[in-house]
Amino acid sequence: MIYADNSATTRVKPEVLDKMMPYLTEQYGNPSSLYAFAYDSKRAVEDAREKVASVIGARAKEIFFTSCGSESDNWAIKGTAMKYKDKGNHIITSCIEHPAIMQTCKYLEKQGFEVTYLPVDEYGRVSPESVRDAIKETTILISVMAANNEIGTIQPLREIGAIAKEKDILFHTDAVQAYGHIPLDVNEMNIDLLSLSGHKIGTPKGIGALYIRTGIRIDNLIHGGGQEKGRRAGTENVPYIAGLGEAARLCMEHMEENNKRLSAMRERLIERALKIPYVKLTGDPVNRLPGLVSLIVEGIEGEALLLNMYNEGICASSGSACSSGSLDPSHVLLSIGLPHHIAHGSLRLSLGEYNEEGDEIKIAEALERVAEKLRAMSPVWENGKPMWA
Ligand SMILES: *Cc1c(COP(=O)(O)O)cnc(C)c1O
Repeated sequence: MIYADNSATTRVKPEVLDKMMPYLTEQYGNPSSLYAFAYDSKRAVEDAREKVASVIGARAKEIFFTSCGSESDNWAIKGTAMKYKDKGNHIITSCIEHPAIMQTCKYLEKQGFEVTYLPVDEYGRVSPESVRDAIKETTILISVMAANNEIGTIQPLREIGAIAKEKDILFHTDAVQAYGHIPLDVNEMNIDLLSLSGHKIGTPKGIGALYIRTGIRIDNLIHGGGQEKGRRAGTENVPYIAGLGEAARLCMEHMEENNKRLSAMRERLIERALKIPYVKLTGDPVNRLPGLVSLIVEGIEGEALLLNMYNEGICASSGSACSSGSLDPSHVLLSIGLPHHIAHGSLRLSLGEYNEEGDEIKIAEALERVAEKLRAMSPVWENGKPMWA
């Protein structure tokens, strides 16, 4: 099997599991307990906080652990909305955000907030000028993702951050796909709030964090005990937090080499796949996530594509896992201007650290076989081309 769905989730790294094991077994103390036995748990949490912070140039005390990327996104958006509702009710985001942002914004619209969903260009880029133009007296938050989970496009965070700072508006970024994969610096990019998730970088599912810049107050999402300096209640998930710290450390240590290796594999995969007729790359051809290849295979349904790729031993996805199961093509692909019939043939191949050199060619060759087979049966494929060509 070739696993090419690392944007959906990743395999747990053995080093991460090793780091977690003591806290799943003999080191079960509650970090809030006052006796020496529990110190080790507390130390593990604080050590992880430092490692998670250092990936983005933050300070340890600016990192707050959550249960997942979705919680971090919810907290950032709802927490800001509630805290600043007397100052204004306008939020700016993009039309290609992850559902954790999109659905949170939809919910807030029902509560009387106003949301601007900025359009993107054909590559999925948000223009910083469109952010500037959307700002009003009542704008309290700008939230634009760092890199898109379906098409891999990296957004101009630095430029958007500069505008947010100039206008004195909070800037949040959903960096779940970018964190640990590409360089990010919250200070250079003027990021006030940043969401990240463990299972996209080699931890088990169910751990995340929100970076909150020192001095910024947002309302709590989870109320209860005084954990996380009173800002996120719930007894700390010590083993998972320790695992996230280790995953962050590994990302830091290997980011450059991983980036180089995966980008090269990505380029070879793209080059080979584009030799298949009526296959197109989606997303930004240059500023894209190192391991992410997003394609359109015209004349084929994404679901059929996936199942047949799986029969070839390849795990991939079509659009995002979150939206599969629905018959509508992804909002991201429609937002970059693809018509429905084209967007239906989407395929996302996301390479990760455990992929081996040569996987990219095997994947492309399998795709060629699958495309040929499915097109032969496709009602919209005639004489070697799609009906609309
Ligand atoms: C995976 C993902 C999330 C959600 O993270 P979970 O930890 O699965 O809740 C949010 N945003 C983006 C861009 C993602 O890729």
